This record gives sequence, structure tokens and C-alpha cells, in this order.
Amino acid sequence: MSKLVIVGTVAFDAIETPFGKTDKILGGAATFIGLAASQFNLDAAIVSVVGSDFPKEYLNLLSSRNIDISGIEIVKNGKTFFWSGRYHNDMNSRDTLVTELNVLADFNPVVPKDYRDAEVVMLGNLHPMVQLSVLDQMETKPKLVVLDTMNFWMDNALDDLHKVIKKIDVITINDEEARQLTGEYSLVVAARKIQEMGPKYVVIKKGEHGALLFHDDNVFYAPALPLEEVFDPTGAGDTFAGGFAGYIARTEDTSFENMKNAVIYGSTLASFCVEKFGTQRMISLKADEVHKRLQQFKNLTQFEIVLD
Ligand code: AMP
Repeated sequence: MSKLVIVGTVAFDAIETPFGKTDKILGGAATFIGLAASQFNLDAAIVSVVGSDFPKEYLNLLSSRNIDISGIEIVKNGKTFFWSGRYHNDMNSRDTLVTELNVLADFNPVVPKDYRDAEVVMLGNLHPMVQLSVLDQMETKPKLVVLDTMNFWMDNALDDLHKVIKKIDVITINDEEARQLTGEYSLVVAARKIQEMGPKYVVIKKGEHGALLFHDDNVFYAPALPLEEVFDPTGAGDTFAGGFAGYIARTEDTSFENMKNAVIYGSTLASFCVEKFGTQRMISLKADEVHKRLQQFKNLTQFEIVLD
């Protein structure tokens, strides 16, 4: 089993969906990634920053999942990163209403000593210079570096984003962001262009339409599980990334064939995440539920056809 380093926001989120509205609740890219990866009982550590307004019980929740939180800096008198978003009726698109960087604005990440030899690094969504700094602190070359990002950083720190994209193995990105990054409408062309920027593997997430994994001329497609009700898609992308990286860390196999399974795990975990507001569903999720849904996934995509 490999060690996993996760960097990303640990945050307060306020969410509006057609089903309701929340005040500030626990959120953040690293939070969702950590909760997803904790399904694999790994040695995992989160590197992030919060303010002194961040409830201790949220940090305790992460450590109770066997997540090392010694790399989460608590800034005295600082305010925690805050994001607010509103979903459209189709739940596939959303508007960001507020992004307050707060303590993230001058964050210098420190990777805990015990994790500087981690084999898998998950660079979750936050400033690309912070992602780069985490990579620079690794004392041995990781077997796999996965990066997730979003339009906010393309709009505000594109040059820095390109610097980090050059150094990674896998990028997970949603369809609109892949188009924004490359200026290409076709996702096949966009994936090729992103591969030319650095990562050999490109995962394009398409919300309720599943995810595509590209490597050279190979493509693998995993649908999203058709769900009766999607309550809140916040964190689904991060949960996918956490499931993907967690599975690779668990299996210690970075082949394209194994990455297909990682995509399936990521999609399965993301399908739970959207069932309740914020982190609620991921917190209550049990291993046997995951197992059952993986079987449903298999049934959904397997067929026997006789070709003559
Ligand atoms: P997702 O729905 O997977 O795209 O991720 C939503 C999570 O990302 C929320 O919990 C937010 O706190 C967090 N988030 C939103 N905007 C940013 C940003 N610009 N940088 C880092 N994390 C963000």
C-alpha cells in the first residue's frame, strides 16, 4: 500500500440547489478528496490551511478517518477559505457566487516529514503555486502525481497553472475546463492538446454523463451511475479524484488498465457524494454500500454480444 499526500482547500461552503440552501458547512477540495480516499484505509495526509474560525470537530472528523492533519496549518485570527455556489435546474452547471481566499492568499504549504516519500501525490484544487511547492518538497520522486484544478485558476493564475501541469502524470478536469484550457470544443482534440502540455493521462469529467480517460491513442469511457435523485453535486469532482488517487495508492499499479478501475472507483464514490448536501453522504458511507454499487456499475456496463 502506498502513502498518499493530498493538497487542496479545506473550506466553508454555502450551497444553493433547487432542493434547498445551506449556510456555511464543511467543504473544500482536500476535504472531499480525503473522505473519498479514506475508503481505502490508506496512510494519507492533507496539506492545507484554515483560520481559527474553523471548528475543531471538523478537523477531528478528518483524523477519525485516519487522515494525518499535521499538515493543516491553523492561522490565528485568520478566516477560512469560503466558497459559495448556486446550481442551475439541470444540476450539471453552476455559478460561483463568492470565492474568498482569506488564509489561502498567503499560504506556504509544509508537507509533513513522514510524507515526503509518498508514492502518490494528489494535487487538489487550489493555487497552482501551492501545488508546485508541495511537489518540490517531495524527497523521492512520486510514482504518480494527479492534479485537479478549475476555471478560477485558469482565469487568475494561468501561467503558474501551466508550470505545474508540465510536471504531473494525470490531470482530472471537467469538460468545460478542458475546453477553456485548450480553446478546443472537441474533447478528443482537447485531451490531445493537454497531453502535449505534460500529463500522459487525461481524465475529463462530464458530470452526469460520466468520465473519459485518455492515454496516447487509447480512450476509456465510464458512464455515471443513473441516479433517481441528485441532491447536491458539490465535491463530486474532488470525490472522483480522491477515489481515483486512493485506488492507485491502494493497488500500487499505475498501468492504463488499472487506471480504468480507478476511474470506476472514482465514479462510484462520486455517485454517493451527490446524494446529500456537502460532505454528509461521504461521512456516513460504508464499505458494503460501495461494494454493492460497484456491482451495479458492472451490471450497467457489461453485455454479451455475438459478432459474426
Ligand atoms: P467540485 O464540486 O468537485 O468542483 O468541488 C467543490 C469544492 O471545491 C467546494 O467544496 C469548494 O470549497 C472548493 N472550491 C471552490 N472553488 C475553489 C477554488 N477556486 N480553489 C479551490 N477549491 C475551491
